[in-house]
Amino acid sequence: MGVRLTRDREGPAAPTPTPRRPETVAPGRVKEVTSVSNPIVKDIRNLALKKHREETGLFLAEGLKLAIDALDAGWTLETLIVARSQLDNELLAKTAARTISVGADVLEASDKVLAAIARRDNPQSAIGVFRQKTVRADKIELGRDGLLVVLDRVRDPGNLGTILRTADAAGAKGVVLVGESVDPFSLEAVRATMGSIFSVPVARMDEAAFLQFRRGFNGFVVGTHMRGETDYRTPAYGKKPTLLLMGNEQAGLSEPLAAACETLVRIPQVGRADSLNLAVATGLMIFEARRGSLSL
Ligand code: SAM
Repeated sequence: MGVRLTRDREGPAAPTPTPRRPETVAPGRVKEVTSVSNPIVKDIRNLALKKHREETGLFLAEGLKLAIDALDAGWTLETLIVARSQLDNELLAKTAARTISVGADVLEASDKVLAAIARRDNPQSAIGVFRQKTVRADKIELGRDGLLVVLDRVRDPGNLGTILRTADAAGAKGVVLVGESVDPFSLEAVRATMGSIFSVPVARMDEAAFLQFRRGFNGFVVGTHMRGETDYRTPAYGKKPTLLLMGNEQAGLSEPLAAACETLVRIPQVGRADSLNLAVATGLMIFEARRGSLSL
């Protein structure tokens, strides 16, 4: 984002040359906004656009609990937009103060402004503008039996968000996005993660880079395929670090990715459906692969 906040009410924002945090953290600033045409609000609303997210490296996450969890997990918060009408909520006020203390800005916004940023009625009391973070796949520690979920060209933000949430719940070590994928930092994907965007490492790479990574991978590589000949419950998961490959919603797994798998498994189906929804199939696979490590 090209703007930093001033303390004025609705005054023009002072430009900042770089969004990076200084080494010594100066306290952030507070600004009140009531107009959706305020340039800061426009800039934040633009984070709904992929192009603007790519240019700024920022994204939006809604919810006070989410913002607190993200701060606790060490994510960089740039701006916290809070509902001015709810500042008597102790936790909200405390989080706003914490935001200032870590050098981020607080935008005290009218309900109308919050709704415009969230692009929905009844928005949450806080929306955070965070710096995006992805990791390198080869830096994700899998240990002796960790699971890494690999998604081939996933297109649907709801599917991706749901898969990240499921990977988090089942203790998978991370998710790798291969090829042209939906942006994990889109509002819809982040919303569907319900906060897991902040706890599951995400890596992105093209197919050639993934195939190279796979060649150096010393573990079990299983793919799911509508023509898989092995029942998905057959492999002895959890004995080695595992890559679980899932196909694109329309096209399934690409030929090179399918050929890179040691085993192609299928989830048995009856009835008329051609296939399962990607997020449902991934959920079944993740819990099957993690079965030995999960107990109540
Ligand atoms: N038309 C696609 C095809 O023929 O592969 C269907 C893709 S399906 C909607 C998306 C992905 O979910 C598949 O590539 C696979 O990874 C997984 N999937 C869905 N149903 C499955 C099943 N019954 N067995 C194994 N994988 C399945």
